[in-house]
Parts: sequence; C-alpha cells; structure tokens
Amino acid sequence: MEKKKRVLVKFSGEALAGENGFGIEPKILSYIAEEIASLLEAGIEVGIVIGGGNIIRGVSAAQGGVIRRTSGDYMGMLATVINAVAMQEALEHSGVDVRVQSAIEIKEICESYIYRRAIRHLEKGRVVIFAAGTGNPFFTTDTTATLRAVEIGADYVIKATKVDGVYDKDPKKYPDAKRLDTISYDAALAENIKVMDDTAIALAKDNRLPIIVCNMFKAGNLLEIVRDGKGVFSVVR
Ligand code: UDP
Repeated sequence: MEKKKRVLVKFSGEALAGENGFGIEPKILSYIAEEIASLLEAGIEVGIVIGGGNIIRGVSAAQGGVIRRTSGDYMGMLATVINAVAMQEALEHSGVDVRVQSAIEIKEICESYIYRRAIRHLEKGRVVIFAAGTGNPFFTTDTTATLRAVEIGADYVIKATKVDGVYDKDPKKYPDAKRLDTISYDAALAENIKVMDDTAIALAKDNRLPIIVCNMFKAGNLLEIVRDGKGVFSVVR
C-alpha cells in the first residue's frame, strides 16, 4: 500500500481572532476547517497545532511581576485547549473526523496525548489536534508543532501564516523585499528571521524536518502546496 502523505499544520491563536485581535471568530474557524477538509479529501493525513496568543501568552501574562512566568505559561497552554476545542467543532461541522489530544490531562474535555493512539487516528483518516503545547512551560506552540511533526513522522511541518513565506527583509517596511524559495536551517537561526523560535528550528534541523511557511488565507493554497508541491511558499531545510 502506498504510504500516505502526512503533514502537521501549525497556525497561531491570533489567526483565529480575525479583525478584533482577541477571542475566536467563527467565520475564520469555518474557513480554516474547509481548507483542512480539502486536504483530507485529497487523502492527506493531517495533524494540527494551534497557538494560544489570541487568549494569553505566558510572557505577556507575567509582565508586571504579579503572575509568575511558569503560571503564565500554563495559562497559555490552557488557552490552546480552548482553541483546539473550537477548531474541533468547526472541523466536525465541515464533516471531518477529528480528535483533540492534550499534553496536559483534561479527561472530561479531550483525550490525553498518546503517541500510538494519535498515529492510529491519523491512519483512520481523522485529524488530530495536539493541544496544551508540549505540556511544559518555557516552550512555544511552534516547538510543539515541530516536536509532534517529528513524533508522528510527518513529511513536513507547515507554518500557516498571513504572509506568503520568508522574505529577505520585512515586506511591511520594504516594498522591494523578496520572498525566498528556500532557506537553510542555519541561515534561519543565524539571521534571526523568526520563522519559528530557535528551539523549534533547531529541533527541525536535528531531525531533517522541512518547515514550509505559507499563507493560509489564500483559499486553496494549502492544498496546492501539499498535494501538488505548487503554490506560494518558502521552505526551511
Ligand atoms: N506554552 C507553553 N509551553 C508550550 C506551548 C505553549 O508554555 O509547550 C504557552 C506559552 O506561554 C505561550 C502560550 O502557551 O506563550 C501560547 O502559545 P504561543 O505563544 O506559541 O501561541 P501563538 O503565538 O502561536 O498564538
């Protein structure tokens, strides 16, 4: 039997917030769910990691010194669970089978992360949303995405953003900024490009996991990239 393509899609919590920058916008949830559903229809196995920045980030919560960073980070991890449950609803609404697995046990709400069980879900054509980050403070959901991608043997991790890829300089500031098709892990680390944080990039590098950076808000882009290897994106490898 031909091995199916398996990908891990990561998007930030802020992506869910839409214009208001906070909370969860149902229209965006539905849009993303449809984009993911198109991958499933094409026979692609999909894992998802969603950030929590639309609700809380550990570093921000700890500003002012009242909330300790560690607690702030746990709050951030809980925020990702809220987003995961919302995404689960939207995916089901779009006819996709889906399970949420949390790195922190919250058994009334979702499954716990069990690697072998996650693989089984993927093989059965279910989307698995990996919630609660790595379960550890001082990490990010970018690192979570890379970690889970390596664990489940994904072909690559997709960092789905609002921009078309990685640029040689800030495209918002410089109109002549050029999108790079390919960039090495070392350059991504050295040049402070911030595709992902250094921990995530280093983990990807160690495991030769390509990082695809693309725009999630161009309808059909995700499918074109994964199914056909076309579309607009940058790859870190
Ligand atoms: N977080 C954490 N450990 C993890 C993943 C996430 O402590 O393994 C916390 C951290 O405080 C982070 C917050 O969860 O700020 C939300 O995740 P992130 O900032 O990565 O979300 P995004 O920016 O992608 O929305």
